[in-house]
Amino acid sequence: MCACRCGIRVHLRDGELRYIEGNPEHPLNRGVICAKGSSGIMKQVSPARLTRPLKRKQGSERGAGEFEAISWEEAFSLLEERLKKIRSTNPKKFALFTGRDQMQALSGLFARQFGTPNYAAHGGFCSVNMAAGMIYTIGGSFWEFGGPDLERARLFVMLGTAEDHHSNPLKIAISEFKRRGGRFVSINPVRTGYSAIADEWVPIRPGTDGALLLALTNELIAQGLYDREFVARYTNGGQLVVTDPHSPQHGLLATDEDADPVNPAYPQNQLWWDRHSNGPCLTHTPDTDPFLFGDFTLPEGTHVRPAFQLLAERVAEYTPEWAEGITGIPAATIRRLAHEMGVTARDEKIELPIAWTDCWGHEHASVIGNPVAFHAMRGLAAHSNGFHTVRTLAILMSLLGTIDRPGGFRHKAPFPRGIPPAAKTPTGPEGVQPNKPLAGLALGWPASPEDLFVDDDGEPVRIDKGFSWEHPLSVHGLMHNVITNAWRGDPYPIDTLLIFMANMAWNSTMNTVEVRKMLNDRGADGEYRIPFIAVCDAFQSEMTAFADLVLPDTTYLERHDVMSMLDRPISEFDGPADSVRVPVVPPLGECKPFQEVLIELGSRLRLPAFTNKDNSRKYKDYPDFIVRHETEPGSGIGFLAGWRGEDGDKSMLGEPNPKQWDMYAQNNCVFHYTLPHSYQYMRNWNRGYMEWAQRMRIRRWGDPVIIHLYSEVLQRFRLAGEGKWPGRQPPERLRARVATYFDPLPFYYAPLEAQVSDPEKYPLAAITQRPMAMYHSWDSQNAWLRQIHGHNYLFVNPRTARAAGIADGGWMWVESPWGKLRCLCRESEAVEPGTVWTWNAIGKQPGAWNLAPDANEARKGFLLNHLISDELPLEGARVSNSDPITGQAGWYDVRVRIYPAEETGVWPDFRVMKPFSGMRKAPLKWLAYVAGRRIER
Ligand code: SF4
Repeated sequence: MCACRCGIRVHLRDGELRYIEGNPEHPLNRGVICAKGSSGIMKQVSPARLTRPLKRKQGSERGAGEFEAISWEEAFSLLEERLKKIRSTNPKKFALFTGRDQMQALSGLFARQFGTPNYAAHGGFCSVNMAAGMIYTIGGSFWEFGGPDLERARLFVMLGTAEDHHSNPLKIAISEFKRRGGRFVSINPVRTGYSAIADEWVPIRPGTDGALLLALTNELIAQGLYDREFVARYTNGGQLVVTDPHSPQHGLLATDEDADPVNPAYPQNQLWWDRHSNGPCLTHTPDTDPFLFGDFTLPEGTHVRPAFQLLAERVAEYTPEWAEGITGIPAATIRRLAHEMGVTARDEKIELPIAWTDCWGHEHASVIGNPVAFHAMRGLAAHSNGFHTVRTLAILMSLLGTIDRPGGFRHKAPFPRGIPPAAKTPTGPEGVQPNKPLAGLALGWPASPEDLFVDDDGEPVRIDKGFSWEHPLSVHGLMHNVITNAWRGDPYPIDTLLIFMANMAWNSTMNTVEVRKMLNDRGADGEYRIPFIAVCDAFQSEMTAFADLVLPDTTYLERHDVMSMLDRPISEFDGPADSVRVPVVPPLGECKPFQEVLIELGSRLRLPAFTNKDNSRKYKDYPDFIVRHETEPGSGIGFLAGWRGEDGDKSMLGEPNPKQWDMYAQNNCVFHYTLPHSYQYMRNWNRGYMEWAQRMRIRRWGDPVIIHLYSEVLQRFRLAGEGKWPGRQPPERLRARVATYFDPLPFYYAPLEAQVSDPEKYPLAAITQRPMAMYHSWDSQNAWLRQIHGHNYLFVNPRTARAAGIADGGWMWVESPWGKLRCLCRESEAVEPGTVWTWNAIGKQPGAWNLAPDANEARKGFLLNHLISDELPLEGARVSNSDPITGQAGWYDVRVRIYPAEETGVWPDFRVMKPFSGMRKAPLKWLAYVAGRRIER
């Protein structure tokens, strides 16, 4: 049901849902199920379900919820006519943004085929810093694409993670890890979820994790506790960086221009300074070993230093004492943790008798592991300084020698990928043409300024300003900028906004109060500034109220779905895995899966991927598309990797198999390919794995993926900011910003929000967490789960609450520089005194999700997003409250003050939403579900 994608078995009696259990034979959750998963039965019968396509009533205001039912044919015709016109004139005027979409490979394909650059899912709001910071450093990331090997780790350090992403597998792994006697340290401002069972909780001030990680790195280097051999061979620590400030190559890696780069896309002609010959040599020349420290001069006179020397110099200033003042963690604790990490990695090594061959032809008799594992998520990511924080974490993990090794971090297919991955967007406005697919992907991985998606003046082509000089590495887009930018017409107005499963009028946005006004705002011509909004969702929500057209989606129990290798598979450490959902009950009312909506629209619009050569419709429906679609004609690669080939006897590659769905259904809905043991570790540099990955077309090239302790990619952008890059240059107003933040080495800066808010007036950091029993806002309609979280409190350390004169359980004001709200206080020792926090998305607009208008969610619950601004006044301009590198929303950066409230009740208050046509009235009685029947009593 949620992004964890556990396997479930659903039991029916007389066609009615009776019981949901975890599938014990599913590799991901092995039968474990959470509260959300087992309560799916109530989601199915929720009064918030939308049941038919709806059109806003003529003359009614957006947000008023006045709709009339229409047929699917009318809905499709309306969209077809509108989108056809846009596609034939200016495809940019159509924007498609999705929330926790589990089929981004299809929604991305649709957008690309339509020809619009304006597509992204929710990653820019969620954890893009986690993906980008890790992938730009080690070629892989946490969660779907890699994770901690707790089966063999001795020390596990978790940062900024609540109980959310990768939920059940991590719970299973942590419980087994603890039973084996492993030590678990949780670094988090709040002690909830996994942290509650940690052996040590290290409270930290939000947004300061980068300072801690830099100090830990400093200490590891100062104490000589890094894995020298690993750093020398597998990272670019030994590669020589040009340090002549006047050289046009300043800050880039020195290369031997006469040597074969092997692959110009990822050249391999960098230099080491060899310890044996005391001279320069090509990296990985047989019988050489690089200096990691030193200052050298190449024969032609260029000054160079090993990247590791520069890293050591950089972190030298970041002492534990310095970090103590920023993080609130005592310097002695930081030293102790660094020592524990370093000593555990060094002295408790694991050796597995698995022979493997590296990319340079060396044969290794065994695989070595340094058993220190880490995990991190949104708590590190959702800050405007998060990219460098996450990059520092990846560097720390590399210095400990833990990458794709037993007991450390391990990749999951299709990762590792090249740094950065090869996928690219178009590079200019000419990539968007009427009636043509986009000339590239809507989302990509820039390697240099030449890869940005900007016009000749360096201005953005995308509505969210993704891949522009404002946020060059915005690899997941910036969903949180879309409504504001479209409303303002900056960089241009759009015509149609199609939103799937994203509550962008509530918890999936910052500056909620103003954004809701923008959705309803009209220009001088009397027309809405965003002329047409279509929303597809299974449930009535705060966002659906603002739609002009509502498309009722199915639930996860009513449709086919794929967890695809082209998107976010469920791969394991030992090999690729993907999975499917098959429907167990028919759709309610006229509900239709969004997948079918895209296939239908793609066919009607004659988008090439959905159309035969004779212009006829190519796919009957979504299941047919999944079986027959190939990435290129005859490629043998489709959305599913299992049971391919005409008879289903091939895997990974193979012709379409008409019985593929049945074969998945007969096999627990999972395909799992186990790699030979010798391919399961050291994959960045494992020749066998790389050749296999190339054969399977998981990787385009088989080059080793050297870890980027020093990021030459960032340096290319910095040179452009400094006016020294021979190619594209940023607009003048952004030069200093690019030069500052695109530092090839990690550095610490306070989040942008902290740079503009007065710390005396707003002394507290305020953050949210996703509750373990609810999946964002979706589960507030679930009668069983509402009994766990009916409303939220602001959790405040007792010392902080008492100093502010606020009683436990009392009403209080929370005020940021951008707004204020009233809520209930709950004292908690499980939060450090400088932080307040709450569960996310429990508070609701009255009547939303078809809850009674006076439901606790509306009358006691609150949404912290009201206090967070989507833009900040910086250097005389409005600047997106996002990471300057990736565009990650800085929504965990807000600063607040608290004081007692004399009045009771939530504020701000919003108008009451009414049920839409086709929905039941909000039940006034208890909703029970007994023997397969829904009962109100
Ligand atoms: S974690 Fe998500 S996918 Fe797994 S059982 Fe819970 S709701 Fe279902």
